[in-house]
Amino acid sequence: MPNLPVQGMALFPFLLLKEKKFRQNKQLMNHELIHFRQQIELLIIPFYILYFLNYLINLIRYHNHMKAYRNIVFEKEAYENDSNLSYLSERSFAGWTTYLRRIT
Ligand SMILES: [Zn+2]
Repeated sequence: MPNLPVQGMALFPFLLLKEKKFRQNKQLMNHELIHFRQQIELLIIPFYILYFLNYLINLIRYHNHMKAYRNIVFEKEAYENDSNLSYLSERSFAGWTTYLRRIT
C-alpha cells in the first residue's frame, strides 16, 4: 500500500504494510503484532477509542503530533519492546497497562 502514511498499521485482523518488503522486517512485524495483541485484549473497538483519546490528550499536552503519537500507551509498549522478538511470548496479559503509570 504505497499511499500508507506509515510503514505499517495493524487493523485487526489486517496488517497493512507500506511496502511488501517490510514483511521481512522482524522488528516492524513484531511492533504490529504487539498492537494485534493489544487489540484482541480490548476486544478491538475499545482499543481504537482509547488509542484515539490517549492521542488527543497527548496532543493537548504536547502540542506536537509526533510526541503525542509516541506517548500513546500502546505505542510506548510497542516501541519499547519491538526489538525483543520473544516479547509477546513473555508478556503478561494487558502488558500495556504498565505504561499507564508513566503517562504523567
Ligand atoms: Zn505502533
